[in-house]
Amino acid sequence: MSSEIEKVKALIVGSGPAGYTAAIYASRAGLNPLLYTGGQPGGQLTITTDVENYPGYPNGIMGPEMMEDFRKQAERFGTQVRYGMVTKVDFSSYPHKVIVDDQKEIHADTVIISTGASAKWLGIESEERLNGKGVSACAVCDGFFFKGQDVAIVGAGDTACEEASYLANICNKVYMLVRRDEMRASQIMQNRVLKNPKIEVLWNTETEEILGQDEVEGVRIFNNKLGEKREIKISGFFVAIGHEPNTSIFKDYLEMDENGYILTKSGSTKTNIEGVFACGDAQDHIYRQAVTAAGTGCMAALDAERYLAAQE
Ligand code: NDP
Repeated sequence: MSSEIEKVKALIVGSGPAGYTAAIYASRAGLNPLLYTGGQPGGQLTITTDVENYPGYPNGIMGPEMMEDFRKQAERFGTQVRYGMVTKVDFSSYPHKVIVDDQKEIHADTVIISTGASAKWLGIESEERLNGKGVSACAVCDGFFFKGQDVAIVGAGDTACEEASYLANICNKVYMLVRRDEMRASQIMQNRVLKNPKIEVLWNTETEEILGQDEVEGVRIFNNKLGEKREIKISGFFVAIGHEPNTSIFKDYLEMDENGYILTKSGSTKTNIEGVFACGDAQDHIYRQAVTAAGTGCMAALDAERYLAAQE
């Protein structure tokens, strides 16, 4: 552990739209924020291609490019952006203690958590190879690219049902691949899917391989009850088997729901620890959009600024 302790007014953990927006606001408010990017600088948007639903980009923008713009805007007002991973925190006393890369200790008057969430993936080779080339974990982000086409979605929870219904509004046909003979989703969401003539639920169905070289052309599926394989033609493959918030390092201190999403006080980004704020997907399992993450990032910076003003 390096002996030199760095003291900051505002430490931002994570570099997606929430973190960078918090940084823009905090730096413009004179808090001289320090931001650690985490292991995937720019966050989940860096693994998508076109972003067409972020206001202000009438012609769309590539996800990685947009996050570069966010970073530059944060740096323009004096945010220090550093590559590094927060590996440990101690929120038991004030100021808050944060350890970066198991080495560097930082004492922060306020901490803004914007560590995001990670989509769960099936873990097969073709899924990784075709990611962003027809394979997506976000129907709301990418469904539009498959307008009028046939797609498949894997999963059987509320997210999968919601996204299947969303896709059915845009696409020609949606195959829903459910690995058991029942769904986990709430009854109302299941009913919506089962009643939709554009959605065909394939029960007891697992994904063996997503087909296509440079883009998705189909999927080979396996019926685990009948022991039968077959191929279906699709151009989009959506994975909706859940998300995992990147919050495990905070679990000893922050109140969370049963899935690990940080609980914030209604209408704010305040957590149960004073001076610690949470924004973006780390505290939102419902909307999960870049623009909503950015909105809560702004809220976190304003909450931190007001907290510091009240301390003085
Ligand atoms: P869930 O964990 O609820 O569901 C995940 C689904 O993916 C399960 O059906 C599971 O199957 C399936 N699955 C997991 N791994 C695989 C795999 N390797 N292959 C195939 N299928 C797999 O996640 P959700 O994202 O759907 O929901 C998370 C939480 O958010 C829930 O509490 C949900 O209720 C809530 N939510 C609420 C909404 C609303 O109310 N409008 C909308 C969206 C989410 P199996 O069932 O066989 O384990």
